[in-house]
Amino acid sequence: MLFNSILNVKNIIVKEKMTKTDAEWQKILSDNEYSVLRKEGTERPFTNKLNDQKKEGNYYCKGCNAKLFSSKMKFDSGTGWPSFFDSYPNVFETTTDYKLVYPRTEYHCAKCDGHHGHLFNDGPAPTEKRYCNNGVALKFVEEKLF
Ligand SMILES: [Zn+2]
Repeated sequence: MLFNSILNVKNIIVKEKMTKTDAEWQKILSDNEYSVLRKEGTERPFTNKLNDQKKEGNYYCKGCNAKLFSSKMKFDSGTGWPSFFDSYPNVFETTTDYKLVYPRTEYHCAKCDGHHGHLFNDGPAPTEKRYCNNGVALKFVEEKLF
């Protein structure tokens, strides 16, 4: 019974959204971070140092600190944006984006709704997926992976 209620509480925490007003986001994010995370902007390719980051560690959401990717999921796509073939489970939600001629799959943080990038199906095995992520939306923490 006790165990059950602990599980329930945990479930609620995971699903809880972080909500802030635009003004609150502008206070805690830089202009670039705000433009990408809250306005679905795209950083220029090859401008973010995380594109070349190869150290062992995890990538967290700049908006809410949710753990999104590990260095083991990262690969060099040559696009100029940090790219990953997988994410931690249930950390993203997706929408269909019609801004370009062809529809794309937009993905954003499930916790704070911050926009991170677009998801393509031309990534490497085993997933064949490519999370094309804006570097400014990520915070890298060098740490041991288990
Ligand atoms: Zn987030």
